[in-house]
Amino acid sequence: MTIKKLTRSIIKFYHFLSKNNYPNSLKLEGLKFDIIIHYLTWRCNSRCITCNCWQTSPTEQKKEVWNLDNIRKFYSTVKANYVYLTGGEPSIIPNFREIVEIIYKTSGASVSFTTNGLATKKIEEDLLWLKKRGIIFSLDLSCNGFEQKHDFSRGIIGNYQKILELINFCQSHKIYFTLSFTAFSFNLDEAIPFIDYWNKKGVEVTLGIARFDQRYKINENFKKDIIDDRDYPRILEKILKELCEKYPQYLPQYQLIKKINNNEKNFPCFGLVKRLVVGPYGEVFPCDGLVDKLYLGNLKESDFDFRKFIQSKEDRFKEVFNIIKEKRCQPCFYITDLLYGINLTLPKKDIIRILKKRFLVRIKKLFK
Ligand code: SF4
Ligand code: SF4
Repeated sequence: MTIKKLTRSIIKFYHFLSKNNYPNSLKLEGLKFDIIIHYLTWRCNSRCITCNCWQTSPTEQKKEVWNLDNIRKFYSTVKANYVYLTGGEPSIIPNFREIVEIIYKTSGASVSFTTNGLATKKIEEDLLWLKKRGIIFSLDLSCNGFEQKHDFSRGIIGNYQKILELINFCQSHKIYFTLSFTAFSFNLDEAIPFIDYWNKKGVEVTLGIARFDQRYKINENFKKDIIDDRDYPRILEKILKELCEKYPQYLPQYQLIKKINNNEKNFPCFGLVKRLVVGPYGEVFPCDGLVDKLYLGNLKESDFDFRKFIQSKEDRFKEVFNIIKEKRCQPCFYITDLLYGINLTLPKKDIIRILKKRFLVRIKKLFK
């Protein structure tokens, strides 16, 4: 079994190296995404100062389209290697675990989902339920620093302890998880110590860059703590530079911020080429920016059949592809999945360092 997994990893690694080219045109026939980011709901049980999803009215639930039938229809007609479920807080959806099961069984994609960990018991029950059914999934625990900073960011005392409980739970049940740290002004000083601390414990930390679009309206009372408009991008660049000395996997983020700070455009984004984003009400976009000018349509129009959706939207897909290819939607903090662009933006020696690191981490996991 381990040999099989190892072989698959080696194939994936070479596949990654060889296919990482940007296409001249978008081929809709047989289109397969590397990743679908699926926002199931905007509702949330948190009280974060960095985001107002939790203020979404409960009545919005009526507009959400992702019942089990629509999930099944969509995932049996779209091709993807990997599906990432997010929100809002996905675990608040009562039939969340059935959604994961259907996606896994109908699409064959690996499934991962984010959580703030607040509904700890329900999350643990869901995880065990999925594990018992042999569903392969992973968990992304959102954590913005050590106890004081994380609880400050959530607006809820005790959230960090719940994250620790979930970490213990995942470790004792051999459930794969990562921690995701989003860098704001107030927690930038903890980025390196936090990553160091969890790295020593063998836990991978992904680093996200704060988002400040309309969806993530920040609490006005804390604006100064969350982002200092003048200094944040430069300090972030400095910290990322330092971080990359030890952890080359953060080089793409560093490169992105550096270019944005210098007012330069990045490589053509892989949104739509390798990544698709779906919203709680059936909206489809090429990226998490969810910007109007890149809107592709609503899946309700094709009764959640993605093949029909593409057929009816051929011209729109091509139009959006051209905007992205010509970088007309940049500069952009959302530039999708930096992973794909690294060979277009980084020096060769850095790419090799990152790939080597990723490969070693994967191998280490297989033999754990
Ligand atoms: S940041 Fe996440 S946990 Fe916090 S309110 Fe927004 S969606 Fe909820
Ligand atoms: S560059 Fe930004 S706006 Fe354009 S597709 Fe990529 S993530 Fe979206």
